[in-house]
This record gives sequence, structure tokens and C-alpha cells, in this order.
Amino acid sequence: MKKVLVAGGAGFIGSHLCEFLLSKGCHVTCVDNFITGQKKNIAGIKSPNFKFVEADITQSGSWSEGQFEEIYNLASPASPIDFEKIPLKILECSSLGHRNLLELARKNDARILFASTSEVYGDPEVHPQRESYFGNVNTVGIRGCYDEAKRFGEALSMAYHRQFGTKIRLIRIFNTYGPRMRETDGRIIPNFFMQGLNGESLTIYGEGQQTRSFCYVADMCEGMYALVQSEETRPVNIGNPTELTVLEMAETVKKLTGNTKPFAYKPLPENDPKMRRPDIARAKDVLKWQPRVSLEQGLDATLKYFKSQL
Ligand code: NAD
Ligand code: UDP
Repeated sequence: MKKVLVAGGAGFIGSHLCEFLLSKGCHVTCVDNFITGQKKNIAGIKSPNFKFVEADITQSGSWSEGQFEEIYNLASPASPIDFEKIPLKILECSSLGHRNLLELARKNDARILFASTSEVYGDPEVHPQRESYFGNVNTVGIRGCYDEAKRFGEALSMAYHRQFGTKIRLIRIFNTYGPRMRETDGRIIPNFFMQGLNGESLTIYGEGQQTRSFCYVADMCEGMYALVQSEETRPVNIGNPTELTVLEMAETVKKLTGNTKPFAYKPLPENDPKMRRPDIARAKDVLKWQPRVSLEQGLDATLKYFKSQL
């Protein structure tokens, strides 16, 4: 039985990944400090092959002495509302924290996936974004703590790969959604569903003409797993290329939730990317991966989840 470590496994994507890896017959150790994760996300996992350790990856502890064949590092706050509240924690996760995990991977000769992000492309001037694009990030802007932490995490991974031959995997995750996003997370999907279901106005930042491309979490887990099983050490975009404006997403969720309130327009946050869509040619070619869940199916499952949380 393959021994796997998931850092950040009590979070939104991490909890789905733990379940996915268990379904593949792995023994899963999940490490999380609950800074943005939730106990309820993993409460339903009853498998004897699942172990939870409450720990902070930026600090060494007994968790960092285990034996693992694969390590998935998803531990990092990821919502723009956290960028203002806990910027130092964010910077520490992908630097000190990721270094601790890279050391563990080096000692175990394990494969290690770093959950990077489309945010490494910043406010992109190339559309859609392919992996060869170096990005357009404002290092001193409000998003800098997250974007630069992830860029550093990629560079740190490459340094381990070049210096020690560590088996790194770099995934650039594009906007992902689904059940178990925190209701108060502040990101577009939980905001719109909670506002919609509570009969409040959906909040549109700016004029809502900025675009995002939304990937359902089950597709994301398959992409992560496929990347770790592959020999690819270059960054790989994983996301769904179906692109929508924020206003289009608002109209869709408004209809789904039966909300009748007019939209509430709010100021656009600083450096909010104007457009984002992954070029997934590399994932298709190397991993034979592409998203399978339609936006309609994904939003339907998400609606059921948020309804159940009311
Ligand atoms: P999330 O906040 O739900 O999950 C992150 C998890 O990491 C949480 O459970 C949190 O408690 C844990 N964590 C944070 N710091 C930790 C630390 N120091 N030690 C131990 N655990 C820690 O967010 P998510 O949306 O599930 O994102 C998961 C990963 O994917 C993150 O690394 C994020 O940057 C990346 N990502 C997500 C998206 C997306 O759209 N969801 C997009 C790009 C990248
Ligand atoms: N957004 C919005 N209203 C909200 C939350 C977000 O209009 O209540 C917009 C936000 O300005 C951004 C997009 O939706 O353009 C996606 O925001 P999110 O925070 O989910 O993630 P991002 O892709 O910006 O990191």
C-alpha cells in the first residue's frame, strides 16, 4: 500500500484529494493546522487507512519523520481575503513549510507535488496562459504575498530538483470550486452561493467584466494524481478552459439559487486579474488529462452542498 502525505488535507481541495487517494488504495496521512481548513471536511473519512495529524508544516514535528512515497503540498491559505489578514503566514507556507516537505521528500526519495497557482501569471498580458509565460506580478501589491510565495515555492522546488535530484511536480492550479469551500471564504463561488441562498444581493467587484475559468474539484484531483504518477518535472497548468465573466457567473448563480435581488456593485480590489484562462495543451499531451465535469454539473453539486450548510 502506497504511503502518501497530504499537507493541507483538511482544506477544500485537500479533503477531496485525501478521499481520492484512499479510493486509489493509498495509505493517507493528512497534516493540517486548520488555519483555513475545517474539521467537518474530513469528519466523514472513516477509512482505517487514513491518519490525521494536527500540525503546522512551517514547524518541524513528528509528522516530518514519517516514511512516504508521495507528498502533496496543498498547505497554504488561498483566498484574497487572507492576503490582507495573514500575509506572513502565507509567505511562510510556501517557503519554510515547503522546504520542510522538500527535505522529507529528499530523505524518502519521494515524489513531491507543490500546489502552485495561476496567480504566478499575475494580471496576465498573454491569453490564454501557457506555462512558458513568465507572468506580470506586482510584488508589492496586496496579492504579492501569495503570488510571490508560490513563485518562490516553484523556485525552491527546482533548486531541490537541480541540486539533489528531488522528484518534484509543479501544478499550476486555476480557479477550482465545489463542495467544502468555506462559506465565509470570500472567493467568488462561496460568496455568490451564500448570498444567493440567503436572499442577499450578489456582490460584483468592479463592472464584472473580468474573466475566470472554473474547474470542478473532482477534475482537479484527477489532474494532481496524474501529474504525480507522470515523470513531468516542468510546471503543468490544470484547470478548465471554459471562461466566463464575473457577471455571467453571477447571473448563473442568481438563477440557480432563485435569488431576485439586484446585484450590489463594489470597488474592484487592487491588481485583480482582468482575465484568466488556462492553456492545457501540456496536460493533455503529457498526462492525457482534461476536465470532464461540465460547469452545469459542477455548479449543481456545489448548490446542493451550500444548501446543506444553511
Ligand atoms: P484551503 O484554504 O481550503 O486549503 C488549504 C489548507 O491548508 C487548509 O486546510 C489550511 O488549514 C491548511 N494550511 C494552511 N497553512 C498551513 C500550515 N502552515 N500547516 C498546515 N496546514 C496548513 O484552500 P484550497 O482552495 O483548498 O487550496 C488548496 C491549495 O491549492 C493551496 O495551496 C492553494 O494555494 C492552491 N490553489 C487553490 C486554488 C483554488 O481555486 N482553490 C487555485 C490555485 C491554487
Ligand atoms: N469577485 C466578485 N465578487 C465577490 C467575490 C469575487 O466580483 O463577491 C470577483 C473578484 O474580483 C475576481 C473574481 O471574482 O475578479 C474571482 O475572485 P476570487 O476571489 O474567487 O479569486 P481570484 O481568481 O481573484 O483569486
